[in-house]
Amino acid sequence: MVEDDAFLEDHQSRARCIRCGDEKFQPYHRCESCRFEPQNDDLVKSVYLSVWRYEDADKQAHWAEALKVLTKDEIVHFTFASEEMKRLHTFVGDLVKTGGRHFWFVGIPLIAAIMGLTWAVFAKTF
Ligand SMILES: [Zn+2]
Repeated sequence: MVEDDAFLEDHQSRARCIRCGDEKFQPYHRCESCRFEPQNDDLVKSVYLSVWRYEDADKQAHWAEALKVLTKDEIVHFTFASEEMKRLHTFVGDLVKTGGRHFWFVGIPLIAAIMGLTWAVFAKTF
């Protein structure tokens, strides 16, 4: 897997905006050029046009180079293979679910801690 802070070589792309074809850092980021923020099916397409499409490092590197070579016009009119879309749908769905689980295990205890702290301060003040 490509680490979040790992930069690729000059001749590689991490992700491209499916709306305007501009380069971006992560598939789920809002595009800085056209302000497009992909969701649902568009997010799956965005993952398709990013190195996150593959988990295998060699495939990632190969795809990163292919992504760099595609023109903006080719990106905007890219033909998404339906089998690959299906596969990525499951992959992205799992990621979203994992993210949701993250909220329950990290988000809720964090909110509870903040509320507890606020209450403690509040109780002391009054
Ligand atoms: Zn864009």
